[in-house]
Amino acid sequence: MAFRRMRALVFHAPHDVRVETVKDPELRDPNGAIVRITRSSICGSDLHLYHGSVPAMPGTVMGHEGVGVVEDVGKDVRRFRKGQRVLVPAVLGCGECEPCRRHYPVGCLVLPVKIPGISLELGGAQAEAMYVPAADANLREIPPELGDEQVLFLTDILPTGYTAARNAGIAPGDTVVVLGSGPVGLCAIEAAGLFGAARIFAVDLVPERLEKAREFGAEPIDARVQDPRTAVLEATEGRGADAVIEAVGSRDTFRLAIELARVGGVVSAVGVLFEEAFPFPMGTALLKDLTFRVGLVDIPSSLPRLFPLVRSRRLDPTRLLTHRMSLDEAPEAYRLFAERRDGCLKIVLQG
Ligand code: NAD
Ligand code: ZN
Repeated sequence: MAFRRMRALVFHAPHDVRVETVKDPELRDPNGAIVRITRSSICGSDLHLYHGSVPAMPGTVMGHEGVGVVEDVGKDVRRFRKGQRVLVPAVLGCGECEPCRRHYPVGCLVLPVKIPGISLELGGAQAEAMYVPAADANLREIPPELGDEQVLFLTDILPTGYTAARNAGIAPGDTVVVLGSGPVGLCAIEAAGLFGAARIFAVDLVPERLEKAREFGAEPIDARVQDPRTAVLEATEGRGADAVIEAVGSRDTFRLAIELARVGGVVSAVGVLFEEAFPFPMGTALLKDLTFRVGLVDIPSSLPRLFPLVRSRRLDPTRLLTHRMSLDEAPEAYRLFAERRDGCLKIVLQG
């Protein structure tokens, strides 16, 4: 293989990630592929590992958002060959079990780890190369007219925003609140627009992010200076929002989401909160006849909807891109993104 010993971003401990030379990924089975990563990015989900709120093993090669070029394929791979440009989705499945055949890799019964970059078993995309199991089922070819940066966010955050809006059951004319104006929240704002939301309120604490939310068509609410409850009730003549999307992943915002929804409304959560128990306001939810949806990104059903929109330029994911850095600068990139400095939203790592 070309890399011999590749460079990768390695997790050591919370707030301690380093670019190191590690063992090359190996073709572990005849269905797998090795992808040389040309562009990767850092996700809010990586920050859970970085901050220590989701445990990770030292030595984990991080990242689950990557695009690249096929470097090698196992003998049973049919649809891909060396040299093809591909996108590696953030959730991978075996492609053959019953949930995978239903295009539901989140439910894969075979792969022990479905998300790259969170464990030692499946190295991530913030590296020169990565191993992808079941290449035929997981990889997506990148149309030649689209550049790497145009499709990079289709690996995770754009489908996550789309999944969040779809799960929220948004209908034309609805009033929607999106909690969090990070990359995922902004993608959810974009998707809420696609489903026909009439008004979209964006709640965050960071002024530059709220300004970005405004550019994406939302009405910003700075939760540091304004109570979102009052603002949303005023805007809806006391009813509350038809749908609330949670794109933060904190106890406070889950509770707030339930409070902001109208009677008969929907709360759709994609923010990651790894707590087995948290105080769920059952009484409020019951009296509100509330629908609560939570889950991982549904990439297989999102991509056929999103690819054409990106191809036709109705969606431009590069609007989220604020920084380009080299893989060697990844530790600084994590700091920048974690501290939300310098207007940082989405960092593309290359080389
Ligand atoms: P991010 O950390 O960049 O964004 C989070 C945003 O929430 C920030 O702008 C922050 O200022 C804001 N925020 C924090 N506390 C708040 C509060 N109390 N009220 C309002 N806003 C608040 O992360 P991101 O990349 O946008 O991801 C958002 C969430 O989505 C993360 O939890 C991430 O793990 C999750 N995620 C889930 C999936 C999935 O499959 N379900 C996929 C990707 C990301
Ligand atoms: Zn992600």
